[in-house]
Amino acid sequence: MFHRLKNDFRLSIITLLGISAIIGITPFAILRFVEGNPLAGFVDLGILSGIVGSLAYAWMTGDTERSGLFLAIIICAGAVTVGAVMGEAGLFWIFPCLVTTFFLVSSRLAAILNLLSVLALMSIETAFSSTVQMWTFATTATVVSVCAYVFAYRNQDQRERLEHLATIDPLTGVKNRRSMDEELNAAAANAERSGLPYALVMLDIDHFKKINDVYGHGVGDNVLTDLVALIERNTRKSDQLFRYGGEEFVLLLPGVDGSSLQAVMNNLQQVLRRHLKYPGGPVTSSFGVALLGHGESVESWLARADEALYHAKETGRDRIVFADKNTQLLAEPA
Ligand code: GH3
Ligand code: MG
Ligand code: MG
Repeated sequence: MFHRLKNDFRLSIITLLGISAIIGITPFAILRFVEGNPLAGFVDLGILSGIVGSLAYAWMTGDTERSGLFLAIIICAGAVTVGAVMGEAGLFWIFPCLVTTFFLVSSRLAAILNLLSVLALMSIETAFSSTVQMWTFATTATVVSVCAYVFAYRNQDQRERLEHLATIDPLTGVKNRRSMDEELNAAAANAERSGLPYALVMLDIDHFKKINDVYGHGVGDNVLTDLVALIERNTRKSDQLFRYGGEEFVLLLPGVDGSSLQAVMNNLQQVLRRHLKYPGGPVTSSFGVALLGHGESVESWLARADEALYHAKETGRDRIVFADKNTQLLAEPA
């Protein structure tokens, strides 16, 4: 439970706001029944049920986008209804709602929801005691919404930047090892569900240290970026490349096995042999390939690809070694 709260930002916000709303609204719902205003009490109960429902939906399905939208609509509609039923005394509830929407849905959608809520309240004559009060309310509600919009927009922008920094390798622009772990786990889960085959390729540039030592780090860096560009140009959109570390990369290939995997690998090796160069000549690479086994863990899958790569290095480099017996039978002699 804590793991989900820690890793899913929107779920944590929905949970926090949901629980705060339940704690904040429940005493008022009770008070309204005690004071003899059952209509307002039932409105509060309706809002509470909607919030509990959204919370339960978010936790059960993990669909925080839909439950966030649902929650935002409920609290806005609830605040407007409370304003209509209670008049002046109920108007103040709209202000926390105007801020909260920005945590639950996108900034643009939150701004639209806020505008609709304020307009809805302004259209209810009984909600305000004078025109001046109505326009004062409209102005303060707009100021609150604009400030919340600016804050939410900047927050989202910074979150995206942080996410980029945490998941993308700055030199080559491909995903780093951290995001690789997530994608491999997602691939394994999908394979279990759908039966789609997945191949994992571990690629290591041969004698890369020599390139750095003789021609300098800048030339080595260029070889790395050229390698990434060549692989991206010669693989499918659904294939994913990750920088595993140094001059080692992992390529995740969904939907290929047997002879098609052979063809993909042979083609990739030829492309790199032909086009990856440094001032001293062509650059070759070694490949270890493993198909995800039925019910196999990601750790074991990676370990088998790594072992295959190790064999490729041991047996002379510039080679593709398949970890799987079935694929190996189909492999052309190196
Ligand atoms: P092998 O054929 O056995 O793979 O030998 P190798 O020389 O390629 O392998 P080794 O692991 O000995 O050397 C890897 C080198 O990669 C050492 C390190 O300095 C270099 N390296 C790691 N990251 C970077 C980088 O971002 N840029 C550059 N230019 N070099 C890097
Ligand atoms: Mg190497
Ligand atoms: Mg290496």
